[in-house]
Amino acid sequence: MAAKIIDGKAFAARLRLRVGEEVALLNSRHGTVPGLAVVLVGEDPASRLYVRNKAKQTGEVGMASFKHLLDKDIGQHELLQQIEGLNRNPDVHGILVQLPLPAHIDANSVINAINPAKDVDGFHISNVGRLGTGQECMVPCTPLGCLMLLRDLHGNLSGKSAVVLGRSNIVGKPMANLLLKENCTVTVAHSRTRDLPEVCRDADILVAAVGRPEFVKGNWIREGATIIDVGINRVAAADLGDGETRIVGDVDYAECSTVAGAITPVPGGVGPMTIACLLANTVTACCRANAFDEPKDLVV
Ligand code: NDP
Repeated sequence: MAAKIIDGKAFAARLRLRVGEEVALLNSRHGTVPGLAVVLVGEDPASRLYVRNKAKQTGEVGMASFKHLLDKDIGQHELLQQIEGLNRNPDVHGILVQLPLPAHIDANSVINAINPAKDVDGFHISNVGRLGTGQECMVPCTPLGCLMLLRDLHGNLSGKSAVVLGRSNIVGKPMANLLLKENCTVTVAHSRTRDLPEVCRDADILVAAVGRPEFVKGNWIREGATIIDVGINRVAAADLGDGETRIVGDVDYAECSTVAGAITPVPGGVGPMTIACLLANTVTACCRANAFDEPKDLVV
């Protein structure tokens, strides 16, 4: 039977509407407008596109958007000073530094210079530690988006067997921590894992974040499993014409969607959730900074 398609695009649109309502409430009740600063170093076209999308969506939900486009040759010290300025700016509640940074910049130092309360990407070492120890923190946006889709589909995730394919700091590891917190039995698989297909077949929930196009095959999937495909890979698409490309996930959708119970498409699955969660995190950061009540049903 064909799998249920998990419509992340529609879910993200609903979440952005909710964020917009909360932004309007914060403004009318307290005269406060949540503000998100995005810092981009250099001119990488993909990063520029991400930053433009983030700024556009920030404006659409009524939040203040601060864009800092910095020269690719900016020095570490000067970049840290920029971050310090944003830390001190009371109109900025969330700070995001677009990764990757140029090779001459120490990305860890820059991320760890962000005030953890404004670290809406959840990459600061303090937020990483708090997530790992189950304390209140800023949760990284992509894994948070995956979790929201899973909760929406299943409700309670307790006792489910979850396999996270990939162990990066921005997706795999925080995803595993979030699923552990939901009382899943979690396996984290990576490039040194033996017999990956067998490990994946154990999963009620499989989250694929490997960065390899259509890597997960249909015969790796347990019948009825839920598949969350985080991957975004641009591949040649000869059927569309010479030199044309298309975006595919880390999961072979054609094969897996005939075995899985539910699956996220690429595009239109996890991708749209990431920015929506960034906006939600900025509202949360604004409420915490001002000791306002946090909206209860924003991040569920
Ligand atoms: P990384 O490259 O940082 O990590 C990839 C992980 O996959 C590593 O842990 C690596 O293992 C593992 N891996 C690679 N090859 C294999 C293999 N052959 N077998 C088993 N494991 C393997 O990627 P990210 O986590 O940053 O991103 C993963 C994917 O998600 C990418 O496609 C990226 O574009 C996408 N992405 C999407 C986002 C969204 O908004 N939807 C946001 C962020 C990422 P090891 O550690 O052993 O090297």
